[in-house]
Amino acid sequence: MKKFIILSLLLIITDRLAAQFRETQNIVIVTIDGSRWQEIFRGADSSIINSKYTTNKDAVLKKFWAQTPQERRKLLMPYMWSIISRRGQLYGNRDLGNKSEVTNMFGSSYPGYNEMFTGAPDWRINGNRAINNPNTNVLEYINQQEGFKKKVAVFASWELFPYIYNIKRSGLNVNAGYTNVDEIDINEHIKYLNDLQHKVPHTIGETRLDTMTFELGKAYLQQYKPRVIHFAFDETDEMGHQGKYDMYLKYLNQQDEYLRQLWEYIQTDPNYKDKTTLIVTCDHGRGDTSPWAWTEHSILIKNSIQTWMAIIGPDTPADGEITTSTTIYQKQLAQTIAKFLGIDFKANTDHAVADAIESARKPQAIIVGIANRDN
Ligand SMILES: [Zn+2]
Repeated sequence: MKKFIILSLLLIITDRLAAQFRETQNIVIVTIDGSRWQEIFRGADSSIINSKYTTNKDAVLKKFWAQTPQERRKLLMPYMWSIISRRGQLYGNRDLGNKSEVTNMFGSSYPGYNEMFTGAPDWRINGNRAINNPNTNVLEYINQQEGFKKKVAVFASWELFPYIYNIKRSGLNVNAGYTNVDEIDINEHIKYLNDLQHKVPHTIGETRLDTMTFELGKAYLQQYKPRVIHFAFDETDEMGHQGKYDMYLKYLNQQDEYLRQLWEYIQTDPNYKDKTTLIVTCDHGRGDTSPWAWTEHSILIKNSIQTWMAIIGPDTPADGEITTSTTIYQKQLAQTIAKFLGIDFKANTDHAVADAIESARKPQAIIVGIANRDN
């Protein structure tokens, strides 16, 4: 009984500490479609560089090759491996025994995004058809909370995001594909970008160039100061399907540059500085059993469920690369986003929501600290 009372008291105290010490007021989420953990943690892959999927081998070697994986990944993603690796967390390096994965079996995009933002896999979402998502997502839930109304935005290259976030039901501000930012008081820069995106060549059908998605989203961030914004990039996946490894690497490198620019902006704007958490992840993995397997991902391609995740912000311990033999799941992202903002995400459609990734937030360290002292 005594133990029970002490434990209850500890829980009450840690709960208060968690609320007191939580500093995150805003969240920026970046998803890099179909980017593999293998490149994130090992850098460029020599077996694919030496295959028919790399046309300009010498240029790729010159730009991205080095002897060790540690050197190679830093050449590929310098922001990730200088800032996030020192001040944040990186999950999913299977070479160290740490895992990150989706729990849906499909290994493709819509099922992945559904899982990440609703907190659960759904067998009805089993491919990339344009159907309105029946499940409540965490961004729409946050958008309904006090202090967040109309302060949530999505900028996506892929035109399917209005379905994934079910804007018909959710009313979320989702700018996807070649869509203009449609606010009454847009500034000259956004007007220019609105116009420019229709003039540049559309290389992948209705899917917008990531550069346009990034620039429009960043301009929106600067003018409207949303508290939650999701940047959804696509070109890495597309280059995988097209079998262009040099372009896949180039785009990964470009995404890293976007991350750097976003983080630099965040840390210079008083609305965001030291109170914003950045989460970077992907929707699925790709094959890795042969150079060909890299081009694809699906229920039939081995290891398509393997993902990765990076987190940096004022509430996240600076553990760097996570080396524990544990697994995080993409379905935990929804509640993780909510908890960073002090919100408990409850889906009002009929599905369970997976728990948050506790190791991503400092209060857990306090709980563990107290519990250990008690022992
Ligand atoms: Zn794909």
